[in-house]
Amino acid sequence: MELNTLRALYIDELKDLYSAEHQILKALPKMIRATTHRALKDAFTDHLKQTENQVKRLDRIFATLDASPKGKKCHGMEGVLEEGAELIRGRPEPQVLDAGLISAAQHVEHYEMAGYGTVRTWAAKLGREDDARLLQETLDEERTADELLTKLATQSINIDADREVELSTGSETTDKPRPKPKSTKGPQPTAHR
Ligand code: FE
Ligand code: ZN
Ligand code: FE
Repeated sequence: MELNTLRALYIDELKDLYSAEHQILKALPKMIRATTHRALKDAFTDHLKQTENQVKRLDRIFATLDASPKGKKCHGMEGVLEEGAELIRGRPEPQVLDAGLISAAQHVEHYEMAGYGTVRTWAAKLGREDDARLLQETLDEERTADELLTKLATQSINIDADREVELSTGSETTDKPRPKPKSTKGPQPTAHR
């Protein structure tokens, strides 16, 4: 497709998001299975249901644009999700895995927020107010999901992940400088933050 108009670029980015959401629909069940943390499992499960609804919003928009949602692969989301899959394959300690899954999920949410913020703004510019409203609803859901993940991380999961270091080194005290975790395989889940 030739991208000579803002409308064409808008449809192209919507296709990208459609692809991204479908990739997320496939990845979230694996993340739900990977975590043992009840609240994180619930957060991922709720977001899976929201994601199904986000796809429906895109379907509605494509129907009024008289365009097909298919024909594009979101390579950015493919890469972001592959990093999450790589984390799971590395089999870190469960609490460390949870911290890493939150990091992976927050990368997903931020990538989506960039896309939805853009198409929402373009929709308004193109005079497509109904689209803009639907896209804003999804953007708000992505932001709320991101904020919930921050809360889970800072209020419990990062704390548990850090405690895992003590358990695996047999240290009883909490106020000494901690030695490095004995397991060095797998990625460092907090390296991006
Ligand atoms: Fe989404
Ligand atoms: Zn993309
Ligand atoms: Fe999302």
